[in-house]
Amino acid sequence: KTSLHWFRRDLRLVDNAGLWNAQQMSEQVVPVYVLSDWKKKHDWTGPNRQAFLCGNLQSLAKNLEAIGSRLVLRCGSAERELEKLLKETKAEALFVNRDPDPFGKEVEGKVKEVCERMGVAFHSFKDAVLHEADEVVKGDGSAYRVYTPYSKVWLGLAKPEPLPRVKSLGNAVGDNVKSEALPTLAHWGLEESGAELPEAGERAARERMKNFVGSRRLPEYAEKRNVPFGMHSSGLSPDLRYGLIGIRELYARCRKKAEEMSTGERKGVETYVKELGWREFYMAVLHFWPEVLETDFNPEFRNVRWDSDEALFEAWKAGMTGFPMVDAGMRQLLATGWMHNRLRMIVAMFLTKDLHCHWRLGESFFMQQLIDGEIASNNGGWQWSAGTGADAAPYFRIQNPWLQGKRFDPDGMYIKKWIPELKDVPVERLHEPAKLRLAKDYPLPIVDHHAERDKTLERFKQGKEKR
Ligand code: FAD
Repeated sequence: KTSLHWFRRDLRLVDNAGLWNAQQMSEQVVPVYVLSDWKKKHDWTGPNRQAFLCGNLQSLAKNLEAIGSRLVLRCGSAERELEKLLKETKAEALFVNRDPDPFGKEVEGKVKEVCERMGVAFHSFKDAVLHEADEVVKGDGSAYRVYTPYSKVWLGLAKPEPLPRVKSLGNAVGDNVKSEALPTLAHWGLEESGAELPEAGERAARERMKNFVGSRRLPEYAEKRNVPFGMHSSGLSPDLRYGLIGIRELYARCRKKAEEMSTGERKGVETYVKELGWREFYMAVLHFWPEVLETDFNPEFRNVRWDSDEALFEAWKAGMTGFPMVDAGMRQLLATGWMHNRLRMIVAMFLTKDLHCHWRLGESFFMQQLIDGEIASNNGGWQWSAGTGADAAPYFRIQNPWLQGKRFDPDGMYIKKWIPELKDVPVERLHEPAKLRLAKDYPLPIVDHHAERDKTLERFKQGKEKR
């Protein structure tokens, strides 16, 4: 019997639940990916992530060829393209890994209807996460709004074991099954951004995973994860975003490594695993409250006034605010399509609390730039920073960007790496508001932090009173 495996955010052969089950249950599996066909501009993605996707598809196609199969690419709406392919191949079943975000789920629903109408079996699997949203709920079945009690339950649940590499998908896909060419950025009418992206594909991602788990970064994670200069975190977020590595395998490798560690070192693993829990917490928040994509999670703040000043927003985007720590973060993002977590918090709080721009502007800009752009974590991170989200930073705890710089980049190494025009400036001048320009082409601070902080506190207070 013939089945389809519909690849989406699971672009790998190792530890892939849907693909593994498809090959166990079929004589032939036709692997398919459906490309979106929007053109030029998209609020939720951009050239960096699309370029990374192109590389990941190239690698997937090669890996499939190596096991005697062939990736079938189609372009357009998934339900229509899959319906055509099901007819052409006379497949009796369709296998897919479930997508945690609302857009993915909506398409999945449509494809399921097509299968039902055609009498094709529809098999969907948990794969992107260790625990899906409805596995981690309170005794009465309601969802957690706060991370700590969520994480206690999440950590206590037995974790699924990784699955082996798929070695064959059965009979070769016939020549009569047509495929589009592998895409380049031109497919969406996009041009390269010039950012230096990580190597795409499953092999490179597996190397990154093994490197992280086998290096000092894992045992030292608890201690150093907030240091932005040098690489102290795993850097695996883009690989998890595209499913170039399986979350089950990553988890199992960390746990196995922990067995060889001292108690102190094991703290690194515990802290790291809790971060994986944050990822699934935000996915659960988005599952139970999909309206967070449109509005504040916390209704108390839905009347807060925002300015969304175009010039200030542009300065923030370009890394030209005159706040070196903020600008360094934004420049790292522009140069690499990735930003350290500490910096994401600093720049997000700065945009919302110092420049009074609505968090949705930053959310969308991040989605357009980040190679790990993940709707749930990104929305969660932005609403956390704005103070409007589930388990967010309280709105009155406004980080001081100058002190953040002093604390997390005391010798200015991170700032100097990303803002070369500041490389000769004495470090103490980087962490206080400049009265004279620090360099010819570098601006003075565009706002006064203390004044803007007071304004924000007043606006949140007024917003609450207006309810
Ligand atoms: P590590 O420190 O090695 O953490 C391990 C993994 O845990 C990460 O790969 C990630 O999957 C998960 N994780 C860690 N921290 C968080 C967190 N706070 N929330 C959710 N998951 C987490 N992460 C994304 O994957 N995609 C996004 O689009 C995204 N947008 C963000 C926007 C803002 C404003 C903020 C404050 C955070 C955002 N994050 C996002 C979370 C976090 O910054 C990144 O996951 C992390 O920096 C990725 O680097 P890493 O893989 O080295 O993380």
